[in-house]
Amino acid sequence: MYGGFVYILSAPSGAGKTTVGNLLLREVPYLEKVITVTTRSPREGEKHGVDYYFLSEDEFLKKIEKGEFLEWARVYRYYYGTPKSEVERILSQGKDALLIIDVQGAFQVKEKFPNAVSIFLLPPSLGELKKRLTLRGEREIEERLEWAKKEIPCAKHFDYVVVNNVLEKAVEEIKSIMLSNRRKAAFVFNNENYQSLHLGEDILQVIKGEDCHGNKKV
Ligand code: 5GP
Repeated sequence: MYGGFVYILSAPSGAGKTTVGNLLLREVPYLEKVITVTTRSPREGEKHGVDYYFLSEDEFLKKIEKGEFLEWARVYRYYYGTPKSEVERILSQGKDALLIIDVQGAFQVKEKFPNAVSIFLLPPSLGELKKRLTLRGEREIEERLEWAKKEIPCAKHFDYVVVNNVLEKAVEEIKSIMLSNRRKAAFVFNNENYQSLHLGEDILQVIKGEDCHGNKKV
């Protein structure tokens, strides 16, 4: 068994992707978040190795040189990057990798993994986005809103778009996208990912042992 799916979740800052991401991680089996690297300093409560790997700019630039990132981008004034090794580790365990990254990163990942599934999370309105950023006590609100207006039109290039109006509903929608991927016959049979089907040993033996008598795609 090898190779799960790569999921890209992008959204403007304040749209709720961290909350949505955390709920997905709790509710979707086989899903693991890729901990990414940033040069910004930790917010209150954020932990190194849990929320991000917080590195200095020098350390980050060295990692770029060594080719350690699957993608990297400058967002606001900081660098952010996805370590290749993290993604490879998750996929090699047959799990799905959740990348919560900005749109620049999303485009880079899609180039390298054309089968990656990209999901754009939209806030219901710009007014609501501003409210959420303000409630969060974010420092760079105007800068983040300006950035959001540049990112939002990119939603049309993603595979899926989900609106985070009612949190539970947004999570359910993304969850159903993820669960239906794991039901793709190609995923189940080509990679021998049978475990989530909870099949009896007898039917498993039939599936593995016999060829289909019609050889057409249905
Ligand atoms: P924040 O500073 O609010 O945690 O994140 C700012 C933006 O950077 C968010 O859109 C977040 O998804 C994105 N981001 C976090 N990690 C990465 C990464 O590794 N690569 C890219 N391209 N964006 C990232």
